[in-house]
Amino acid sequence: MGATVSMIIDRKGSSVATIAPDETLATAAERLAERRIGALVVSSDGRSVEGILSERDLVGQLAAAGAGTPELTVAEAMNTDVVTCGPATTTDELARMMTEGRFRHVPVLDDGLLIGIVSIGDVVKARIDELTLETGQLQAYVTGGY
Ligand code: AMP
Repeated sequence: MGATVSMIIDRKGSSVATIAPDETLATAAERLAERRIGALVVSSDGRSVEGILSERDLVGQLAAAGAGTPELTVAEAMNTDVVTCGPATTTDELARMMTEGRFRHVPVLDDGLLIGIVSIGDVVKARIDELTLETGQLQAYVTGGY
């Protein structure tokens, strides 16, 4: 059985790093660096999702706007067409969404409100844990542990 988003959130917690759309990209870069993460959910109230801003967007703005980049607002650089998932989404579905959409972060919504975020690292870890468990079970089975 595939792991679900709610299992991932139970383990890593539901804290999500957010930023308001009127903040600057300088503040966004500080927040990403401080927390050693790759994306911020853009939200004015910390609960509703208005967009997503990843390190890739900062690099894109830097290439386009150069030295003026830090003063730009988050709203000018964020993506508003955000793909989200729910607590029951499986790791297989997440892997497909991330591969097809070419992004590494998916905010988790419950009843339209932000309850977590899953990164590609979380998906890979969950898959490795599943495979390790399955391997252990198979070894126990073939060596008569069952
Ligand atoms: P990432 O690979 O997550 O750093 O993001 C790559 C690009 O996809 C950036 O332009 C992000 O703003 C965008 N992006 C990241 N996550 C999502 C998402 N869940 N839905 C839509 N766009 C996203």
